[in-house]
Amino acid sequence: EETDWHALSDVDGSDEEHGAPPQPVLAVVGRPNVGKSTLVNRILGRREAVVQDTPGVTRDRVAYDALWNGRKFTVVDTGGWEPDAEGLQASVAAQAELAMATADAILLVVDATVGATATDEAAAKVLRRAKAPVLLAANKVDDERLLADTASLWSLGVGEPIPVSALHGRNSGDLLDAILDALPETPKDTGGTGGPRRVALIGKPNVGKSSLLNKLTGEERAVVDAVAGTTVDPVDSLVELDDQLWRFVDTAGLRKRVRTASGTEYYASLRTKAAIEAAEVAIVLLDASEPIAEQDLRVLTMVVEAGRACVLAMNKWDLVDEDRRHQLVRELERGLVRVPWAERVNISALTGRAVRKLAPALRTALDSWDQRISTGQLNAWLSELTAATPPPVRGGKQPKILFATQAQTRPPMFVLFTTGFLEAGYRRFIERKLRERFGFAGSPVRISVRVRE
Ligand code: GDP
Ligand code: GDP
Repeated sequence: EETDWHALSDVDGSDEEHGAPPQPVLAVVGRPNVGKSTLVNRILGRREAVVQDTPGVTRDRVAYDALWNGRKFTVVDTGGWEPDAEGLQASVAAQAELAMATADAILLVVDATVGATATDEAAAKVLRRAKAPVLLAANKVDDERLLADTASLWSLGVGEPIPVSALHGRNSGDLLDAILDALPETPKDTGGTGGPRRVALIGKPNVGKSSLLNKLTGEERAVVDAVAGTTVDPVDSLVELDDQLWRFVDTAGLRKRVRTASGTEYYASLRTKAAIEAAEVAIVLLDASEPIAEQDLRVLTMVVEAGRACVLAMNKWDLVDEDRRHQLVRELERGLVRVPWAERVNISALTGRAVRKLAPALRTALDSWDQRISTGQLNAWLSELTAATPPPVRGGKQPKILFATQAQTRPPMFVLFTTGFLEAGYRRFIERKLRERFGFAGSPVRISVRVRE
C-alpha cells in the first residue's frame, strides 16, 4: 500500500488537529454599566478588574478563554457594543440576538440595585426565545441587605436571578457553577467548531494588518490592552462583519499599544504560524502597491501547509494605478500558481474600500473548507471523468481508479483507491476537475492515492 500525498504545496499532509479543540461559548450580554466587564474579569479569575469608568466608552469585543473546575470555555464579552442610531434598547436587543446565534449559553447581567429597566426587558424579551440556556446574574448585590432586590428580577421571565457581586466576588463561585451546569460539554454545531469562526489576519510587516483590524473594530479602542500580562491573555478580538461575529485570533500583537519594536522576522514568523494554527481561515494581506515578495509567498505557503481556508486581501488598493494594475496581474499569475483557488478581494484598510467584501469571501472559503461530497456523487462523477480521460499508462499498465471517498473535511481530503500509481500531472488534473465540478473556492484540497495490489 502506498500513501501518496498530493497537495498544492506538496506537503506530507499529516492529519493534525486544526487549532484548539472546540470549547463551549458563553456570551455575556446586558446594558452598559451593569458590571459585565467586572463580572467577566471575575469569571476569568483576574485579581484586578479592569473597568472603564466612563459610560459609553467603546471597548473591544473580546473573546477570552476561561477555566473553572478543570473545564475550559470561551467567554465572549460584549461590553463594547455601543448604542446605535436606533438607541440603546435596539442595540442591546441586537446584541442578544447575536449572542443567541453564536453562544452555547448566555449570561444576562442586570443591576440589582436599579432593578429591571426597559432596556433589560428588551434584552430579556429576545432571550426568552433562545434555545441555549439563559442565566440571569443580578449584579451589585454587595451585601445581604440587597438580596431582597433580586426577587423582583424574576419578572424578566428568564429564570431565577442569581445574586452576585462582581466587584467583591460575592457568590461568584455559585454563578460559575451554574454557568458550567448550563454549558454543554461540547459546543453546538454551528457549522463551525463552536462559537464565532476563527480568523487569522496575517501578512508581512507594514502590509496593513493593524490598520485593517482597526478599521474592522472601529478606531481607537481602550482598556483591554491593559490586561496584558495577566495569566489569561485576551489574545483574540471579536469583530462583527455582515451581521456575523468573527473571532480574529492572536490579535494582541496588532493592537497598537502592545506592539513591540523587537519584531525580528523569526519572531514574526512564529506569531504568524501560531495564528494560522489557531484559525480556521486566514486573511492573507498583500501590499498591492508593491511587488509581491518572497515573504508574501512564504506566508501563503504556511496557510496551505496548515490546511486552512484562505482569503487573499490585496491591500492599499487606493495606491494602485493603471500601470501598477497591469504589473500586478502578471505578478499574481506567477506568484499564485499554488493558490489559484484563493478568494481574492481588493481592499484599502485606509479608506475602507471593499472591506465589506471580506465577510462573503470568508464565508465562501469556510463553506468550501467544510464541504463534504457524498461518496455516491463523488464516484459517479469520477467514473465519468476517468472514462473520458483515463489515467496515463505506466510501465505498460493502465492504472484504474476503483473507488474514491472524501475521508475528511477542514480541509477536504479525498482518498483514491487505485490499481496503480497515478502521476502527479493526472492527480492535478483530477483536482482541477474536482474544483470545476464541486467548487472548493478558498480552500485547499488534498488528494491521497492508495494503491491496491
Ligand atoms: P459594563 O458596562 O456592563 O461592562 O459595566 P462595568 O463592568 O464597566 O461596570 C460599571 C460600573 O459598575 C463600574 O464602576 C464598576 O466598578 C461597577 N460595578 C461592577 N460590578 C459591581 C458590583 O458588584 N458592585 C458594585 N457596587 N459596583 C459594581
Ligand atoms: P502592519 O505592520 O501589517 O500592522 O501594518 P500597519 O497597519 O501598521 O500599516 C503600515 C503602514 O501602511 C501604515 O503607515 C498604514 O497607514 C499604511 N496603510 C495600511 N493600509 C493602507 C491602505 O490601504 N492604503 C494606504 N495608502 N496605506 C495603508
